[in-house]
Amino acid sequence: MGMSSRRDVAVVVGAGIAGLSASRVLADRFTRVVLLDRDQLPDTATPRRGAPQTNHAHVLLAAGQRALEELFPGLHDDLIGAGAVPFDPGTDLVFYRYGAVWPTDPIGLRLVSMTRPLLELTLRRRVAALPNVTIRDGVAVAGLAGQDRRVTGAVLDDGEVVPADLVVDCSGRGSRSDRWLSTLGLPAPEFLEVKIGVRYATRLYRRKPGELTSGVGVFVLPTPPAEKRVGLILPIEDDRWLVGLGGWHGDQAPTDDDGFLRHARSLPHPAIGDVMARAEPLTDAVAYQFPSSRRRRFERLRELPAGYVAAGDAICSFNPVYGQGMTCAAMEALALGRTLDRHRDVSAEFAREFYRAAADLIAVPWRFAVGADFAYPETTGPRPSAVTLLNAYSRRLQLVAQVDPGVRRTFTQVQHLITPPSVLFTPAMIAKVLRGPGRGRPGG
Ligand SMILES: Cc1cc2nc3c(=O)[nH]c(=O)nc-3n(C[C@H](O)[C@H](O)[C@H](O)COP(=O)(O)OP(=O)(O)OC[C@H]3O[C@@H](n4cnc5c(N)ncnc54)[C@H](O)[C@@H]3O)c2cc1C
Repeated sequence: MGMSSRRDVAVVVGAGIAGLSASRVLADRFTRVVLLDRDQLPDTATPRRGAPQTNHAHVLLAAGQRALEELFPGLHDDLIGAGAVPFDPGTDLVFYRYGAVWPTDPIGLRLVSMTRPLLELTLRRRVAALPNVTIRDGVAVAGLAGQDRRVTGAVLDDGEVVPADLVVDCSGRGSRSDRWLSTLGLPAPEFLEVKIGVRYATRLYRRKPGELTSGVGVFVLPTPPAEKRVGLILPIEDDRWLVGLGGWHGDQAPTDDDGFLRHARSLPHPAIGDVMARAEPLTDAVAYQFPSSRRRRFERLRELPAGYVAAGDAICSFNPVYGQGMTCAAMEALALGRTLDRHRDVSAEFAREFYRAAADLIAVPWRFAVGADFAYPETTGPRPSAVTLLNAYSRRLQLVAQVDPGVRRTFTQVQHLITPPSVLFTPAMIAKVLRGPGRGRPGG
């Protein structure tokens, strides 16, 4: 085995969902894995400074749960054991979309509701228990070491070089990959940005039985472009509710008591405000701004370095309202493992193949998220093709889903990324959608 096919050390930058998933995959394929994070990683399920989104609702889609379960067998049971709340999105979620609560019927998906810190802590414990993985927290990566288009390590902000045969950049949405690559004389990928001005505010409440009369949680989505507000209430571990309120294009829920409740009361369905009015708040409301969805097209770069790939939000950061980021990160980690298994060397060709696989995974959720966001005329940036037509089709399909259990089930499976969207465009489906919902739409 020559120098170029060494699989001694892999360094992962960032211990978020992407970094933890990647570390799991690399542990099977490298002698040693070093996972670096600039945060002090807590021993409890608490939000972190380096990932401020950990304060906010994180829904794990069915495809993400499957991918994480494949990476960490028994994860579902671990999460339930730690207090996560199981639910079937077909029966247990009050889902309000396009002017009505959707009727309930089982989808057969066993999802779990919990905080992002609990999911992260559970994964981190599993990764920390792997004998060949070292987690170093409180260390910030400042750049890459390398020469001749090969990355040979990560450089910490105190100048220490952590040598690596492969560096996987999972440093998130704020990744400095452009700058890091340019210091090695390499080009930065094309950058797509779709401005959506999404705002979140989140508050936790004590949860008591009977506070929500049906289901375990509520998700209220606006009808664009007239409505901009979104609301979510989810059961989380330790008998708490997580209430997330938000809006597109600057429609921010205030974080003071009255303003937060007022925003909930202005949603087109009363369930979230009703629970809030009765439940005891446990925290203040915390705000978060998400100005744009962002995507870096590494797969289109002509020159890629050997010994380096980016993954997770460092490639693509989606509008969080659709809950796709963690799922993509986990699916990309599985793709990373498969790509490594096909290549002797962590070469530029390996990187290209990985980015192509990642781009295939990202294509559908990116199209969903960005496409739906273009229903607002204020949204700016590169528009996917035929977006107006597809948004009109999607809206009509969802009106049909409100009255047709088969369409509802298929739509939900596509939304959870476990069924390809092509099933929404079969001749039979197109005929149903064109016929429309007829009478009998459910009421609000
Ligand atoms: C408000 C909000 C709500 C969201 N809701 C959902 C949801 O419902 N469902 C869902 O699937 N996704 C959701 N997401 C997206 C989700 O958070 C991410 O897609 C997912 O966590 C994958 O991110 P990541 O691991 O790539 O990056 P991150 O989770 O951001 O992790 C990056 C890590 O890198 C570390 N780091 C950064 N720079 C350095 C450095 N220089 N050196 C060392 N360490 C560094 C950080 O400390 C951090 O730990 C949401 C995002 C936001 C903003």
